[in-house]
Amino acid sequence: MLQNPESATAAITVAVRVRPFVGPAPSPDSAAGDGGVKKIIHVVDEQVLVFDPADPNKRNRRRTYVHGARRHKEIQYAFDRVFNEDATQQQVYEGTAKPLIDGVLNGYNATVFAYGATGCGKTHTITGTTQDPGIIFLTMRELFERIETASADQTIETHVSYLEVYNEAIRDLLNITSNESLDLREDDVNTRVVVAGLSEHKPRDVNHVMRMLIEGNNNRTRAPTEANAVSSRSHAVLQIHVRQKDRAVGVTSNVKMATLSIIDLAGSERASVTKNQGKRLLEGANINRSLLALGNCINALCSDRPNHIPYRDSKLTRLLKYSLGGNCRVVMITAISASSIHFDETHNTLKYANRAKNI
Ligand code: ADP
Ligand code: MG
Repeated sequence: MLQNPESATAAITVAVRVRPFVGPAPSPDSAAGDGGVKKIIHVVDEQVLVFDPADPNKRNRRRTYVHGARRHKEIQYAFDRVFNEDATQQQVYEGTAKPLIDGVLNGYNATVFAYGATGCGKTHTITGTTQDPGIIFLTMRELFERIETASADQTIETHVSYLEVYNEAIRDLLNITSNESLDLREDDVNTRVVVAGLSEHKPRDVNHVMRMLIEGNNNRTRAPTEANAVSSRSHAVLQIHVRQKDRAVGVTSNVKMATLSIIDLAGSERASVTKNQGKRLLEGANINRSLLALGNCINALCSDRPNHIPYRDSKLTRLLKYSLGGNCRVVMITAISASSIHFDETHNTLKYANRAKNI
């Protein structure tokens, strides 16, 4: 399938998932200054949310300015899809990754990524748990079913790989043999980017997939920071490669290949928030470089007159060169917390997600 990564036809869907509110019951307005934890997201419907709403109970009363009281921002955002705290893994899957599967089976690459600050639900959404599995598991289950159904007419092979981008170095999460960064090689003929030496796996069934994910996630690089003791500073990239061939043999037999990339991005919080120093600060800079490059590529692909897409600016975007632009479909799942503890992070995340929409 010919895919021109510099072409303008990026189809980007932006979804937001609000993780369940944790902490004490939402406190009244007057408690905001004394450490009370409030809910700062109001989900209006399946596409609209309000950041920092005024107390809904007071909404119809006349607004009086109380000296010293913080005014509410009340910013309304619209996205392709908004999932509230009650959304199940299945609902999130059906609203994000599932619509990509037909395209992947037709030879079109697709990418799903989870963006957001540490603790806001990225890993829960992408991997989940054995009891409550996330998008990768649900996607693979569907793929296995489709392969079974199509098996009379086609042979469909899938293999998966799982890597992390950490400090602009690439490591195999399923085969930790050395700490050296794996190299990216561009294969212009087949319009793909190959990671040299990356292990490839053929999971037998979905439970096998889940075990691989848990093993891989345990291998992700973690470092203690002030914001969160187990905050993950790496981008984890799972790639599902699908190769289809008609059973009718002959020179004209049709072969289709596509890759679905599902990515659990590193925490988007700023280095300043975590008061990182030295090595941690360097990590922060690199994480921001990959996230910045990703945002810049998406913005460039969405613009009316794209000229240069800056894939080369980071490892993550180089890896995804044939999985973002061209005829690819991209879904961004923005994970946010509804708690006032994460006020600035949530605000920044929503601004980033809003920028990623078509402008
Ligand atoms: P991140 O990967 O963005 O740092 P996690 O996915 O690890 O965040 O979420 C932090 C914690 O919150 C985990 O214990 C996770 O199980 C829980 N959590 C996140 N989102 C949800 C959700 N929608 N429902 C239930 N628990 C959640
Ligand atoms: Mg995580």
